[in-house]
Amino acid sequence: MNNDMLSQPLTSDRFRFACHKNLSCFTACCANLNLVLTPYDVIRLRTRLGLPSEDFLKKYTNTSIDKGYGFPIVLLKMNNDKKQRCPFVSVNGCTVYEDRPGACRIYPLGRAASKIRERKKSDDFFFIIKEPHCLGFNEPKEWLIQDWIKDQGLDEYNTMNDFFMDIVTGKNFRRIKSLTPNQMQMFYMGCYNLDEFKNFIFKSTFMKRFEVDPDQICRIKTDDVELMKFGSRWLNFALFGEKTLSIRRH
Ligand code: SF4
Ligand code: SF4
Repeated sequence: MNNDMLSQPLTSDRFRFACHKNLSCFTACCANLNLVLTPYDVIRLRTRLGLPSEDFLKKYTNTSIDKGYGFPIVLLKMNNDKKQRCPFVSVNGCTVYEDRPGACRIYPLGRAASKIRERKKSDDFFFIIKEPHCLGFNEPKEWLIQDWIKDQGLDEYNTMNDFFMDIVTGKNFRRIKSLTPNQMQMFYMGCYNLDEFKNFIFKSTFMKRFEVDPDQICRIKTDDVELMKFGSRWLNFALFGEKTLSIRRH
């Protein structure tokens, strides 16, 4: 996440690490980060903060464009101060700890996330990320990778993030090469600005054009995770022409 970090392959499925308040580096890592937020991160954080998706995105994020395929990437906006601290850090640690982004949870591991659709989950590849200021590696506590993933609540995040990774790392982007400005707006809405996506579904001719299961309509009205999953189906249909939605026959 930080520009000075060093990535190393893991030579076994164990690593030594502990992070706690008694370390002099405590919260030093929560600054000057290129912290990419996934759609699920946005749901968790904006729900935690009680904000509509558009307000959260305006207040807490910057948007960058993927250099390869041109899709919008949302990054957590660091404070505009000397250290560029995360807006959620305090002297006592992370103020959104239970809903912190997946990238914060997985550190000091990294997860190779490519071609999810074409690879089994058990093929996931992990590596270690060492930030020079991080003293956690000097601690005696030893972890198995799978225990760290469980401890940090990462299974849920990985499962939810795979809906997003399925879009951005699948073969479709390699086929279409890049997005048009209109497609970029669709991508941003369908991935991140889910309130706007919900309005699009229910306040436009969307429901007249597509057949959607009535149970699913109920779920996407009330559950942002279901809305996010539906957004990934819609994007695969609208951007790549996949048969993930059925057009109504009149
Ligand atoms: S620098 Fe490392 S050990 Fe220190 S608070 Fe951050 S993650 Fe924990
Ligand atoms: S969200 Fe929490 S854990 Fe992540 S960088 Fe900010 S303060 Fe640190």
